[in-house]
Amino acid sequence: MAGEPQADCLFCKIVAGEVPATIVKDTETTVAFRDINPQAPTHILVIPKAHYADAASLASAAPQLAADLLREAGEVAAEEKVDGVGYRIVFNTGSGAGQTVFHAHAHLLGGRGLEWPPG
Ligand code: 5GP
Repeated sequence: MAGEPQADCLFCKIVAGEVPATIVKDTETTVAFRDINPQAPTHILVIPKAHYADAASLASAAPQLAADLLREAGEVAAEEKVDGVGYRIVFNTGSGAGQTVFHAHAHLLGGRGLEWPPG
């Protein structure tokens, strides 16, 4: 069911503390942790604790939670001091766009120049 933990989901396991992660911010509804394979000096994943497959599903089923996620991403950017020069929030959606973990997550990328358009 939407929002319920999924036994085979890596990020649900991180939320449950069953898989270790370097957590930088933990709120009632979201958790932010460092990406294991960083693509920028600051590369943090911000996820809802509840399970939704992707950002669109999250926003459709739980819009307040989607808003919480974006607010937390912005707060983490400020705490990481990448907000001054600018940062990027990315939601890969679907395998063709590079999504590999099907639990909604925002990539927060910063700390280096970011080109546009992305690859
Ligand atoms: P996606 O490709 O789905 O947009 O993003 C998934 C991200 O999760 C990737 O950037 C990948 O490096 C990261 N990742 C995969 N496995 C782990 C893990 O076990 N721990 C952490 N911290 N990040 C992971």
